Amino acid sequence: MNAFEFYKKSLQNTLGTDTQMSFFWKGRVALYAILKALDIGPGDEVVLPGYTCIVVPNAILYTGAKPVYCDIDPATFNADTASIVASITPNTKAIIIQNTYGLSSDVKEIVATARARGIITIEDCTHGFGATTDGQPNGTVADVSFFSTQWNKPFSTGIGGFSVTQDPVLADKIQGQWDQCVSPSFKESLMLRLLVFVRKWMVCDWNYWPMVRFYRLLSYSNIVLGSSQSSELEGITMPFGFMKKLSKAQAKQGVSSCEPIHKIIEKRRLVAKTYTDFLKSKSKNHVAQELHTEHGFLKYPLLVSNRESFMKAAASAKVRLGEWFLSPLHPIEGDLGKWGFDTQKCPNSVRAAKHMVNLPTDTAKVDRVLQFLEAQIDDIL
Ligand SMILES: *Cc1c(COP(=O)(O)O)cnc(C)c1O
Repeated sequence: MNAFEFYKKSLQNTLGTDTQMSFFWKGRVALYAILKALDIGPGDEVVLPGYTCIVVPNAILYTGAKPVYCDIDPATFNADTASIVASITPNTKAIIIQNTYGLSSDVKEIVATARARGIITIEDCTHGFGATTDGQPNGTVADVSFFSTQWNKPFSTGIGGFSVTQDPVLADKIQGQWDQCVSPSFKESLMLRLLVFVRKWMVCDWNYWPMVRFYRLLSYSNIVLGSSQSSELEGITMPFGFMKKLSKAQAKQGVSSCEPIHKIIEKRRLVAKTYTDFLKSKSKNHVAQELHTEHGFLKYPLLVSNRESFMKAAASAKVRLGEWFLSPLHPIEGDLGKWGFDTQKCPNSVRAAKHMVNLPTDTAKVDRVLQFLEAQIDDIL
């Protein structure tokens, strides 16, 4: 078995299915390949949550199709069926549903609604690897799904992504898109290995944010390989060399990082339960208890009145908070008109983006986080 076959086998074992997969340089490339394989282009519409990462609408726009944003349910931070249905027009070709923070959308209901109308469902599982929807592994219910293995995702290969589908015809077409991708250069593979090494051995709690800022600065200037190039944050044209395959080094890294996922999620759930119990006892916003069993808790969402001061206080208390999503189309702040986003249509997304911070679920220092929350209790909504 070569590195890719081995990786595929590990993923299939974890997902508990023998689905077909194609391996790409990033999750967004997998999404683009899926859209192309579905023959989506000018004149077509793709419905997606108005609370996502900018690279998702970008992939749609690169095909010439139009992203149609729907609002989220404030209880789940996912697009609900009603707002999706309201966004469907005769031009709708596909619906993207997301596993926001590790919680899947109401996949079964949305898939059934879409199928009745001849519309394809694509699951954005970039936060949801290893968690479930109605007891089934995320990524195995919708027509086709994509995953990301970027730094901050459920498991990481530095950067990376893959598509999953049970439909053999579609799988072939996606693999056809993969055939058209370039292979990463020697320099790119080498740099990625270096970054994985730095991340593993040199980044710790006290230097996390300075290191992240330094890395972003370097990657936005295109000096080192980044999660996003500056052109992806500024415009809607595909950057040069976008269509790229996963490297062998990434596939090897993937095998060892994906296997412990269920244990990792178990730990995250325990931490999340502690947060929920605490927040509930203080009558503050929290993830509803009935959502806990299927939630992967990549992040624990918390709404605060003033994010800026809350983040500052966290930094001095040495609590590492996340900042997903700062904006309905993260991380773009300001005018989202270029991406066709209408703030009027998505009030819940806009509000969530304004007040959101994420509590760490991978920390061994839960007590420190709880102490911090106790001290900041008045700022928590
Ligand atoms: C990270 C992310 C992506 C894209 O993943 P990449 O591998 O970075 O391209 C897509 N959707 C959401 C919701 C994400 O958070």
